Amino acid sequence: MSEAEPEQAATTAAAAVAGTSAGAAAVTARAAAIELRRAGLSYGDRVLWENLDLSVAPGEFLAVLGPNGSGKTSLLRVLLGLQPLTTGTALIAGQRVRTGSRHIGYIPQQKAFRAGSPLRARDLVGLGLDGHRWGIRLRGRAFRQRVDELLEVVGASAYADVPVGMLSGGEQQRLRAAQALATDPQVLLCDEPLLSLDLHHQQAVSALIDGQRRRSGTAVVFVTHEINPIIDYVDRVLYLAGGQFRVGTPEEVMTTEVLSDMYGTRVRVIRNEGRLVVVGLPDATTHEHGQHEGDED
Ligand code: ADP
Repeated sequence: MSEAEPEQAATTAAAAVAGTSAGAAAVTARAAAIELRRAGLSYGDRVLWENLDLSVAPGEFLAVLGPNGSGKTSLLRVLLGLQPLTTGTALIAGQRVRTGSRHIGYIPQQKAFRAGSPLRARDLVGLGLDGHRWGIRLRGRAFRQRVDELLEVVGASAYADVPVGMLSGGEQQRLRAAQALATDPQVLLCDEPLLSLDLHHQQAVSALIDGQRRRSGTAVVFVTHEINPIIDYVDRVLYLAGGQFRVGTPEEVMTTEVLSDMYGTRVRVIRNEGRLVVVGLPDATTHEHGQHEGDED
């Protein structure tokens, strides 16, 4: 149940961001973006996970997978400083986790904005820059420029002045991504950010997140029940199930043997044209349902 060679994974992630000056800076910084030491979380006598040692490097893309109720969202809540650990410690950029950290960007699950909301796309993104401040906001030229930049990065310039309630789910989710990236965070936490997006927007939002970690060395923790839309970006997987966890590359963790062991029942992992199909999961949460033929792992 131990973490599979974090040093090696960190080097891989560093290599992924190398070649850009931001990447090089991230590499020399060296400190882990996220560090969990002997971390455990229980509600009453229900243990979600325990003895979790995990170090996420700057620029690394970590996918968090597992069935409903395995504690994926709770892990994000721990990193956001909203949920205390039962045991162990959690550090972000070398500091104990706390709420309202500018080191952290957060993309929540897709939820539609109220149709009548007067908030425009650019207002929403602007809140990512100064929404944590109380009182009068100083919104000068630099502020407007930064908002424009962020809108452009996520491909939302065309609808910058449109009220958010009038935008499609995919467009809204791009704005949430822009908002989360506003402070150029060291850590980006994503809670099923692709849910209810069509394939095109899934690709756009995942590519955007990948671009951020390559450009700026942002460490990404991406909670998802479906690995395929992000499979090309993922450095390591943290798989949670039944009070256990596994950490490693997708090749190490997403195998028939490992998942069958975790679920305590026969689960098959099939690789099909670069996609992973997991068959026989004991609950409704799958990483792609279906009975495809292919090479079994
Ligand atoms: P996931 O994101 O993997 O679906 P969650 O982290 O949302 O899992 O929840 C894990 C389990 O912990 C669920 O069974 C949930 O009901 C329970 N849980 C979550 N938050 C609390 C809480 N504050 N108090 C008690 N139980 C909780």
